[in-house]
Amino acid sequence: MIYLDNAATTKPCKEAVTAVVNGLETFGNPSSLHSLGLDAETLVTQQREIIANAIGAQPKEIYFTSGATESSNTAIFGAYAAHGKRKHRIVTTTVEHPSVARPIEKLEKLGCEVIRLSPDENGQITPKAVLDAVNDDTFLVSIMLVNNETGAVFDVPSAFSMIKKKYPQTLTHCDCVQGFMKLPISAKKLCADMISLSGHKIYAPKGIGALYLTSKIHLPPLLLGGGQEKGLRSGTESVPLICGFGAAVKALLGRVDENFKNAKAVQDYLVQKCSENGGMTVNFIGGSPYITSIAVEGLKSEVLLHFLEKKDIFVSSGSACSKGKKSSVIKEFRVPDALSDSVLRISISAETTTQDIDALMSAISEAQGSLARIKK
Ligand code: PLP
Repeated sequence: MIYLDNAATTKPCKEAVTAVVNGLETFGNPSSLHSLGLDAETLVTQQREIIANAIGAQPKEIYFTSGATESSNTAIFGAYAAHGKRKHRIVTTTVEHPSVARPIEKLEKLGCEVIRLSPDENGQITPKAVLDAVNDDTFLVSIMLVNNETGAVFDVPSAFSMIKKKYPQTLTHCDCVQGFMKLPISAKKLCADMISLSGHKIYAPKGIGALYLTSKIHLPPLLLGGGQEKGLRSGTESVPLICGFGAAVKALLGRVDENFKNAKAVQDYLVQKCSENGGMTVNFIGGSPYITSIAVEGLKSEVLLHFLEKKDIFVSSGSACSKGKKSSVIKEFRVPDALSDSVLRISISAETTTQDIDALMSAISEAQGSLARIKK
């Protein structure tokens, strides 16, 4: 099996699987006062330290959630609840993941003014463009670090640091899901008040994520209840999933640069093979080495995806969340209309090799031959 859909989700690493089992066996409720509760709480505390350390934050700034979707909803609705009565503007991009775009659309319906910035001809959103969109009435700026469909990396650190200098009260949020443990990320350098992280994109289980919230601010919670996670996220902590998350992060610590180099070599190889093969376009160059958006001229993404699947090669059409729907994000990155039905997202892991790319390319060539014949 050749799995090239790692931006949708990843196979949990051995360390995560072992840690989940340990977390299941340490079954006490972290809120219980007896020793079984304390054992579970100790595990949660240890994982919080690991994740905080991975982004240069303090453990008290990490809140466990059910995933990045919940983290971003908490950040966005929390920012609105805290400041949305006095200020009205939100600045974001046209290419955010739905977990950011949909909550912001909801706030727009409630009366917020939303400025959505599109990538320029280089696929970039310049820090100056972001700063120019912010004014005294802006309470939130939300910009992703790595786009999940094209791999474009935005210069969020420069944009947010310029905003913080001119508008220190404006809250900054960054969806770091596709960058976490793949690019070096420092909460301080990012100048983000809030950062969304997800476990299942980095070899941890699904259903676990975290929100980094700078200790300088307080947000009202989305979920009310027993007051876990210092009142920001009620609900008994999922100790097994938190353990899996911490173990996956720990296994990647110190390997981010080396994995990046390997991923870049594999991506360079893929780009070269696409140009040698013919009839193929690489939609975006120069972003994250882990995500490559390509188009195979004349072949519909879904048809090709299922052709590849029969050969045990798994890729995505656009992004997994779009479930085959035509992606508006791809259009924002100026992929021509004629190719927008033919987009495949190849997203690699730390384990992907150039042999995997060879197998992909030979299967695509075969599809170009046989599916083109069927069309005639
Ligand atoms: N943000 C981005 C950029 C993503 O790619 C995804 C998942 O596809 C999410 C957020 C949602 O993460 P989760 O599945 O943890 O809610």
